[in-house]
Amino acid sequence: MTWHFRCATCDFTGDSAQILWRCPNCGGELLIEGLPELLESVDQSRPGLWRYRLLLPVQGPDTGSILGEGDTPLVPFEIDNVRIHLKVDSQLPTGSFKDRGAAVLCQYLKEIGVRRIIVDSSGNAAASMAAYAAATGLECTVFVPATASPGKLVQARASGATVIPIEGSRDDVATAAQTAADEDQSASYASHNWHPVFVEGVKTWAFEVHEQLGGRNPDRVFAPAGGGSSFVGAWRGFSATGSRLPGIIAAQPEACAPIVRAWKEQAPIRRMEAGPTIAEGTKIAEPPRARQIARVLEHPAAGAIAVDEELLISTLKQLWAGGIYCEPTGALGVAAFRIALSRNEVDPDELIVAHITGHGLKSTAAINDLLE
Ligand SMILES: [Zn+2]
Repeated sequence: MTWHFRCATCDFTGDSAQILWRCPNCGGELLIEGLPELLESVDQSRPGLWRYRLLLPVQGPDTGSILGEGDTPLVPFEIDNVRIHLKVDSQLPTGSFKDRGAAVLCQYLKEIGVRRIIVDSSGNAAASMAAYAAATGLECTVFVPATASPGKLVQARASGATVIPIEGSRDDVATAAQTAADEDQSASYASHNWHPVFVEGVKTWAFEVHEQLGGRNPDRVFAPAGGGSSFVGAWRGFSATGSRLPGIIAAQPEACAPIVRAWKEQAPIRRMEAGPTIAEGTKIAEPPRARQIARVLEHPAAGAIAVDEELLISTLKQLWAGGIYCEPTGALGVAAFRIALSRNEVDPDELIVAHITGHGLKSTAAINDLLE
């Protein structure tokens, strides 16, 4: 492995054997550089996303996969009389696209000798990291806001994670997790919002789409964006295919849309306190990966669309009625496509892909309310 870490802010570089999650000099977000940049070698002897292991910063499991990660279907779907394709990542092992990042990150941490991981999340990332920690033999501790609903943590607890509630803001929870990791030599902070290896795993959704379309990229993709790993992952993945880059659109709820605001104002991503939205997974006031997101937004093919709650609900109902049972956050990409279509910003003949990021079974109570 010849890759290395690079800071997105200062001139720090660090080799792949170091246990890092952010820049030790300036505290900025880290990127991974030095991986092959073209998807030339797919290892067909490996299952799922491990086919792409030569473009990932890990060796991968010795044989087979960990929990069956990767190989999700690309499903044709008609909405507003236009045929699009859905990349149904809600079918991953824990029901969320985060399994791509969690599988690669946990495998990587195991390979460099980490024994215990500390994460902070109250939703899908906790479930995903806990499951992959269990499957790769890592101990997992999850710091959660004291106000988090216990139902969302059942999956993580069932996988054997220790759940520690923290009083205070979401930032206080992250700080507590980081401090705990710093104080324990055997532990590593494995945040899905910070760790650069996580995004490398997520980018495999784009590789699969490229293969499923017979070796071409779509014309445009729509991805829900909170911390931005699906969005940045799409960029890294589709860039590596060597085919013409698609337009890549970040979809956020109007109630928390710092990425959309930055794109419209051509300004840096600034903190935006989240208002009420059913798209809980995207309530990230200030994405840690802001510089990487901004770098993608600078490209003329990229864009960002804010979705109001009413349109999100009507989109969900159409998806559910068509048999695609996704959680509210998971429909943001399709909803953003409908907005772009109504503004004549996309041609109905384009090859469109929307990323379905999480399963409806995650949100039974919220969905029940929407059906009343
Ligand atoms: Zn730095």
